[in-house]
Amino acid sequence: MNDTMIDVEDFRREARAWIAANLEPRERVRAGRVVGEVTTHEQIDEARALQRKLFDGGYAGISYPAEYGGRGLTPAHEQAFREEAAGYVTPDFGVVGVVTMGAIGRSIAEHASPEFCRRHIPAILRGDEMWCQFYSEPEAGSDLAGIRTRATRDGDRWVISGSKIWSSGAYLADWAMCLARTDWDVPKHRGLTWFAIPCDAKGVTIRQIRQINGGAEFCEEFLDEVEVTEDDIIGEVNRGWAVTQTMLVYERGAGETATPTEPRALAPDLVALARRVGRIEDPAARQAIARAHINDYAQFHLGRRIADRLEHSHNPDHAVAAYSKLAAGVYTPLRARLGMEIGGPAALAWAIGDEAEGRPALDYLNGRRISIAAGTNEVQRNGIGERVLGLPREPSFDTNKAFNEVLRNARNWDGKVG
Ligand SMILES: Cc1cc2nc3c(=O)[nH]c(=O)nc-3n(C[C@H](O)[C@H](O)[C@H](O)COP(=O)(O)OP(=O)(O)OC[C@H]3O[C@@H](n4cnc5c(N)ncnc54)[C@H](O)[C@@H]3O)c2cc1C
Repeated sequence: MNDTMIDVEDFRREARAWIAANLEPRERVRAGRVVGEVTTHEQIDEARALQRKLFDGGYAGISYPAEYGGRGLTPAHEQAFREEAAGYVTPDFGVVGVVTMGAIGRSIAEHASPEFCRRHIPAILRGDEMWCQFYSEPEAGSDLAGIRTRATRDGDRWVISGSKIWSSGAYLADWAMCLARTDWDVPKHRGLTWFAIPCDAKGVTIRQIRQINGGAEFCEEFLDEVEVTEDDIIGEVNRGWAVTQTMLVYERGAGETATPTEPRALAPDLVALARRVGRIEDPAARQAIARAHINDYAQFHLGRRIADRLEHSHNPDHAVAAYSKLAAGVYTPLRARLGMEIGGPAALAWAIGDEAEGRPALDYLNGRRISIAAGTNEVQRNGIGERVLGLPREPSFDTNKAFNEVLRNARNWDGKVG
């Protein structure tokens, strides 16, 4: 935060004038895309040009530290800008932008060395560097501390080998934040380190995965002796779990994109859908709309309370971010199902290219994403139980054992290795 903090309302006025002079109103171009629709490098380049404009105008990274190219203001200033810019075309990097600005940049600012931050954060805020996350592996998702990608020190360089999966937008990214095991002789949470890897580094193979919704934004990666240096470490060697927790907190509800906007009107998308399919007078459809609106409202106010608590508490308990994430994970699929109920048979088939008609089915297919990404609903419930409510921890057989020993025991169970 900077010493000469501008009042939020003064900032809002200043931002409003800048936006009117520099950004295009939405009605003059096509409406913003939804997640999953930024799929090409051309779209990313388009967003980079606009992001550069925001950066030069002082409106990129509003709540990022000023020494790294941000404005050093608060999330309330950031929110004011978002509200003012809502009717204008702003940079849309799709999921890769959400991850870069909302979780990775924040985690870097909190944990990386000042040199690393100076090297990367201004480039992120300018839109020159888009990042993705390499943390999940085929055998480690919810149990993230169980990853097996290996980073081995070799003089002043590190060599990384392993495989990652479910990396959102990795094929569009310039850099990856990669979690690797650097010590196998200590318990699983204590031997992890984060590295920055250029996505085009020698030994990195990125493959897109075709999904049920027709998209292919998820990727899997194969890391074959990828070389990085000490300068590419984010945080401290073997202390990567602290960085992981920060990153997941931003992803789960403390990030700038996490707060839903206030549902002022009654579920307008569902009202439009009911009108389109001729069910606006149907009591069952009206009931579904009311239910969606109540859920929208509950989710908004819960999100706002959690965000306030995280922002204003002197010693915020970041575990509460799990509530916002869980609310999104529960309400999003529920709302998508309500859309299908209202749409009925009309929501099951539509003309190719008709975005509005296909939307309920696509929302239904996409609705589960948020109940899995960055920790499933069950994992959020466990976190709330253990870290917020103080209930007994889940029984664990491996938290205090050296990871090597855990793997040896696991192999013994299926009789492969003696
Ligand atoms: C939209 C989306 C975006 C993603 N983006 C990225 C990304 O950019 N980078 C990346 O690295 N990963 C990403 N992921 C992967 C994501 O983090 C994992 O899918 C998630 O952590 C769950 O892991 P898993 O898929 O291995 O499921 P598993 O861990 O195998 O879980 C399977 C089931 O078991 C349940 N379960 C597991 N453990 C417990 C437990 N202890 N208690 C109760 N239930 C349990 C789970 O809730 C789930 O229902 C993304 C996923 C999605 C859906």
